[in-house]
Amino acid sequence: MFETLQERLGSIFNGLTGRGALSEADVSAALREIRRALIEADVSLEVVKSFTDKVREKAVGATVLKSIKPGQMVVKIVHDELVEMLGSEGSEIDLNAPAPVVIMMVGLQGSGKTTTTGKISKRLHEKRGKKVLMASLDTRRPAAQEQLRQLGEQIGVATLPIIAGQNPVEISRRAVQAARLGGYDVVMLDTAGRTHIDEPLMAEMAEIRHSADPHEILLVADSLTGQDAVNLARNFNERIGVTGLVLTRMDGDGRGGAALSMRAVTGKPVKLIGVGEKMDALEDFHPKRIADRILGMGDIVSLVEKAAETIDAEKAAAMAQKMQSGQFDLNDLAEQLKQMQKMGGMGGIMGMLPGMGKMKDQVAAAGFDDRTFARQLAIISSMTKKERTNPDLLKHSRKQRIANGSGTNAADINKLLKMHRQMADMMKMMGGKGGKGKGMMRGL
Ligand code: GDP
Repeated sequence: MFETLQERLGSIFNGLTGRGALSEADVSAALREIRRALIEADVSLEVVKSFTDKVREKAVGATVLKSIKPGQMVVKIVHDELVEMLGSEGSEIDLNAPAPVVIMMVGLQGSGKTTTTGKISKRLHEKRGKKVLMASLDTRRPAAQEQLRQLGEQIGVATLPIIAGQNPVEISRRAVQAARLGGYDVVMLDTAGRTHIDEPLMAEMAEIRHSADPHEILLVADSLTGQDAVNLARNFNERIGVTGLVLTRMDGDGRGGAALSMRAVTGKPVKLIGVGEKMDALEDFHPKRIADRILGMGDIVSLVEKAAETIDAEKAAAMAQKMQSGQFDLNDLAEQLKQMQKMGGMGGIMGMLPGMGKMKDQVAAAGFDDRTFARQLAIISSMTKKERTNPDLLKHSRKQRIANGSGTNAADINKLLKMHRQMADMMKMMGGKGGKGKGMMRGL
């Protein structure tokens, strides 16, 4: 099993409790783990290097959000950078050219080229209403043209009639001509593959490209291809020029690092991913999902976002316990107010505490909107320590002093004290009624 990056970083940053900016040393330690994780995810070495350099640049000196751990912060930076490098979402197949639009499929043997040709044809036909003609240019494997013909029959897409003895370029010319005459919108050219890249293959591809003048050249690659993905992508892109990538076998348990490598080397978008053998197992590419997968975690972004809430919720639980025991002074109220402010106001902390629904209503009824938090906090911070723990001390002259100090007035202070009293009373009632497990808290 893969160990998640989060777990690894967790142990690095365990000793690190300080907040503030990420230091060079923190980032270097984290990057060692990130490098390992990326290599395990099959990202090629050269891409790992350029990627970690970029992350280092962004991470050193970055401010750690208050409620998350430094490790999570680094993961978030890595994740965001991955998404950026993986490129934009939903890069459609471009059909913006005079019909028939020629789409040339290239890639190694066994990468899923023929299957993907069928999947894309089906999709263009069903989802975009296009009339599609498929042609196999694979003259080396005797069964290849027949395989495509059967596939076409299965999905209801026309295939170019087979004429024995023609070479790939001749077939491609015939396909384009037949498409023109038959009023087809799209011609899909399924080229031959090899088990590895060699010069004759590249020469053949270049020739087909020259004669068929494809509008899209899609490189089909097996996502389980590890380090080789980079060579593959570079070679095809340099020799033939590709317009997009399609990654197959994303239904397998590979980490998808090839997506990053190929994208980084070619700069071309991943347009689609294959997620099974069936003809409709083709999906749009979502960089976020692939980034999650490369990092080996469910959904790291929401994890980072949730981290803040989790920590607040822990504090809230501790607070609730304090309240139940009947100790709820103005320091506690201030803490509550800060939490509420941080969590986006009224819907926040109170709603997360069991049994707090009622109090939430009460606070809201007291005319408490998010803007008042700041004012209330200012009032409390203008009090002395003694006053905060014992609000009964607050008589007229003290109130005047606090009002002056906080830029408020006596009415504001009275409102705050009233709210505190109500909350404290309610807390006492909840805590006092029957003790453990029997109070109002239970079952609410
Ligand atoms: P080609 O030699 O590149 O044309 O490869 P094929 O299209 O013949 O596919 C080779 C094998 O991979 C076939 O058994 C396909 O069913 C399978 N295949 C293709 N794409 C996918 C995919 O996205 N997921 C899975 N699981 N299998 C796939």
